[in-house]
Amino acid sequence: MSNSKHIIIVGAGPGGLCAGMLLSQRGFKVSIFDKNSDVGGRNRPIRSNGFTFDVGPTFLLMKGVLDEMFQLCDRRSEDYLEFMPLSPMYKLVYDDRELSVFSDRENMRAELNRVFDEGSAGYENFVDNERKRFNALYPCITRDYSDLRSFFSLDLIKALPWLAFPKSVFSNLGQYFNQEKMRLAFCFQSKYLGMSPWDCPALFTMLPYLEHDYGIYHVKGGLNKIAQAMADVIKENGGEIHLNSQVESLIVEQGSVKGIRLANGDELRGDEVVVNADFAHAMTHLLEPGTLRKYDHAQLEKRDYSCSTFMVYLGLDKQYDLPHHTIVFAKDYTTNIRNIFSNKTLTDDFSFYVQNASVSDPTLAPAGKSALYVLVPMPNNESDLDWQAHCQNVREQVLDTLGERLGLIDLREHIECEKIITPQTWETDEHVYKGATFSLSHKFSQMLYWRPHNRFEELENCYLVGGGTHPGSGLPTIYESARISSNLISRKHRVSFKELSHNSWLKKAKA
Ligand SMILES: Cc1cc2nc3c(=O)[nH]c(=O)nc-3n(C[C@H](O)[C@H](O)[C@H](O)COP(=O)(O)OP(=O)(O)OC[C@H]3O[C@@H](n4cnc5c(N)ncnc54)[C@H](O)[C@@H]3O)c2cc1C
Repeated sequence: MSNSKHIIIVGAGPGGLCAGMLLSQRGFKVSIFDKNSDVGGRNRPIRSNGFTFDVGPTFLLMKGVLDEMFQLCDRRSEDYLEFMPLSPMYKLVYDDRELSVFSDRENMRAELNRVFDEGSAGYENFVDNERKRFNALYPCITRDYSDLRSFFSLDLIKALPWLAFPKSVFSNLGQYFNQEKMRLAFCFQSKYLGMSPWDCPALFTMLPYLEHDYGIYHVKGGLNKIAQAMADVIKENGGEIHLNSQVESLIVEQGSVKGIRLANGDELRGDEVVVNADFAHAMTHLLEPGTLRKYDHAQLEKRDYSCSTFMVYLGLDKQYDLPHHTIVFAKDYTTNIRNIFSNKTLTDDFSFYVQNASVSDPTLAPAGKSALYVLVPMPNNESDLDWQAHCQNVREQVLDTLGERLGLIDLREHIECEKIITPQTWETDEHVYKGATFSLSHKFSQMLYWRPHNRFEELENCYLVGGGTHPGSGLPTIYESARISSNLISRKHRVSFKELSHNSWLKKAKA
């Protein structure tokens, strides 16, 4: 199957690659341009001295969505990728206790009974009820909202009560769990969206629910292998990926996007342009001022953005007895949250996440060594913090805290290689607006119809994919954004395409 329509994609992140894979499968001529020398965007690898780190995503949730994207391309994900289910999924470290978190019910119940006074009484109810919420909401979340009419679907009207508006994830969990520390085990996942559990809408209780009902996966070689696999499919389908190719601007004529202008001065015209670069960055950097109204610079400034992260990647000449994923809560969690989201200041007592993936995937570090990834949620760049001045101090604080909270006291003596990304370098080097690593915040007023539309509402022939458009940040939802935009483009050009009975991987809810 081939058709002569040419689709240009700006950015080879998960959104751009997934769209490229679906569109090239449908016979479109696909050309992807990325400024980096590797595919994957925030999902690409860092390779140094024999160590491999994922830049960003390390948790693969909703593997079924990824499988569907490959099925839509008449392929099987497992022919390209080696998936490793994790059990336990992760360890949670509090100031006074530790909890191993499992997706199998029996182990999880036993852990909750061991660690919390209230035991596992609310756990079954949490899984059963949140399964119903998820099953009701997911088909609505994954439809296109480029048009207000699509909002008034029967599915959505039926699912409205499940939105539990205006509750937050934290308050929603109150129906199952009493103690704050117990709830933390099921709401820290709001940070996957760069949000506070006290602000994150209740519908995102789907994140802990999904972990507990479907489990989480590592991919051998790192999650960056997913980006590589998608790039392989695009090339097998005859698509082109141009690396080290920064797009300078979109070519706009009479409100319609006609193509792209590269930093080297070359111009390329196409039938549609798909923007995968971070939404707010793209709108403020790839278009002449005055081109947009709803999303011009002043309007974008007023929007709400996720938090940022301070990242430390350490290649160590030693192995540590640390699980694949460990999440450590600040001793005073609520103050830490306030400092990140309201005060936008630095803090001594912070929550952090450590990935020690080489403990289960030896391909990530040379024999006897380990690749450690440390993520510390930080205020985004609305903080005006001077990260060049703070970087070294924060790095020392992170290494001290790894010693204090996890017993990794001799880290400094074993560092073979190291890389740091600050909120400032997310913005300058990775092109992430305000360094808000999880994009526009996912509060209600920036969701569904109110998030930038997949068929971009301000310019013709322009589509959006990635965390800044609907449905939002996170690999599975980003793949869904690619599916929505690819379907819109295919319908516009009357190109038929394979569809799957939607969400074929969903488990049935109990009546
Ligand atoms: C630290 C971190 C941890 C995360 N962890 C998880 C996780 O565990 N699980 C999960 O599901 N999600 C996670 N995410 C969220 C999300 O899945 C990733 O951020 C994802 O990579 C976002 O994909 P994207 O397609 O929106 O954009 P990106 O990955 O940002 O890709 C955009 C691409 O556009 C390119 N680009 C930008 N400007 C230009 C230009 N002018 N010209 C050419 N190219 C350009 C960039 O180089 C980049 O390659 C994490 C994110 C971060 C930052």
